[in-house]
Amino acid sequence: MGVYVHIPFCAQKCYYCDFYSVVVSEDFPTLAGNYLVSLRQEALYYRKIWGEQPLDSLFIGGGTPSVIPPEELAGLVSWLLKELPFVAEPEVTMEANPHSLTAAGVEVLSAAGVNRISLGVQAFQNNLLKSIGRIHRAEQIGESVEALRKAGVDNINLDLMFGLPGQRVQDWLNTLESALALEPAHLSCYGLILEENTPMEKWVSEGLMEVPNDDGQAEMYEAACRILKGSGYEHYEISNFALPGKRSSHNLLYWQNKPFIGLGSGATGYIGGNRYRNIPDLWRYMQSWHEGGPLYEDCDQVSVEREMDETMMVGMRLLAGVDEASFCRRYGISFWELYQPAINDLLARGLVEWDGAKLRVTRLGLFLENQVSAAFLR
Ligand code: SF4
Repeated sequence: MGVYVHIPFCAQKCYYCDFYSVVVSEDFPTLAGNYLVSLRQEALYYRKIWGEQPLDSLFIGGGTPSVIPPEELAGLVSWLLKELPFVAEPEVTMEANPHSLTAAGVEVLSAAGVNRISLGVQAFQNNLLKSIGRIHRAEQIGESVEALRKAGVDNINLDLMFGLPGQRVQDWLNTLESALALEPAHLSCYGLILEENTPMEKWVSEGLMEVPNDDGQAEMYEAACRILKGSGYEHYEISNFALPGKRSSHNLLYWQNKPFIGLGSGATGYIGGNRYRNIPDLWRYMQSWHEGGPLYEDCDQVSVEREMDETMMVGMRLLAGVDEASFCRRYGISFWELYQPAINDLLARGLVEWDGAKLRVTRLGLFLENQVSAAFLR
């Protein structure tokens, strides 16, 4: 179980992004300071509800956490590690953009307990970075990794994206090669999704921008699976690859549908069977904590039936699949009793396989994961 903290600030908005974040402006230092106070108030509120269940991971995401001065962020991290019931050596991940990381900053964060950095790299070609609205340049990626290693942070994830406008297969192969040359512990490879109401979705729908088609995306994804596996990375989740022993504990928590505390404007959390999403409006969020309580955009009690569906849906993203015995222990019923027609249909279509203990996606199912997940929604 873990804690997610949302830092909703970015230096500029990427054209494809629909995460909640605001672009930093002149009043940013005051705004960030006040926001960090609200985060502490929220953490104390959930501290009482959560009790003593041990927390294994802390994930500071966004947004771009690294736009906040490292001293302030480090203060928040060490305070959370002290106030909440974390295990002795939790995984503490922070997302960062290559342009906003300095060696001195990383040292401060590392001293506060940050032991894993997830870098938003996306591509190693400046023309592609520019076409998707990223602020960093390719040269800064290697510099950031070097700064991290110097500060003793070796557990590094690189986020990469394929299916970008104007991206050729060769560009993607070069990106994979450049990423591997940096020897990261973990790699995430995501296909571009044209989210509603983003500038990129508008430009593509108006014919002003072109992105690779489904076949092009599938070719890039297939290349990533083959090349990363050949380089010693375990393909353990649809989009995630890790060196042995370097899987992300925090993200595994989501794929196993476990509870977690979510803090911050726009953050989601899952506590005591309640799934909530905080209001994605940082001023209203801060006002609500000033008044002493949460302000949700949504908050629903998740029924056991719904939780079982979700456990299957997210669990099938893991290449190890869903273990029938674990499912039975958790819910007192076999998933075969609940989903037999759906599973038989997926088996007949060659999207999943059953080895007598686990149900998992096949190679074909990897490419059609949406259809696999959807089958478990009753
Ligand atoms: S840096 Fe990340 S959160 Fe910020 S706009 Fe870009 S993709 Fe979105």
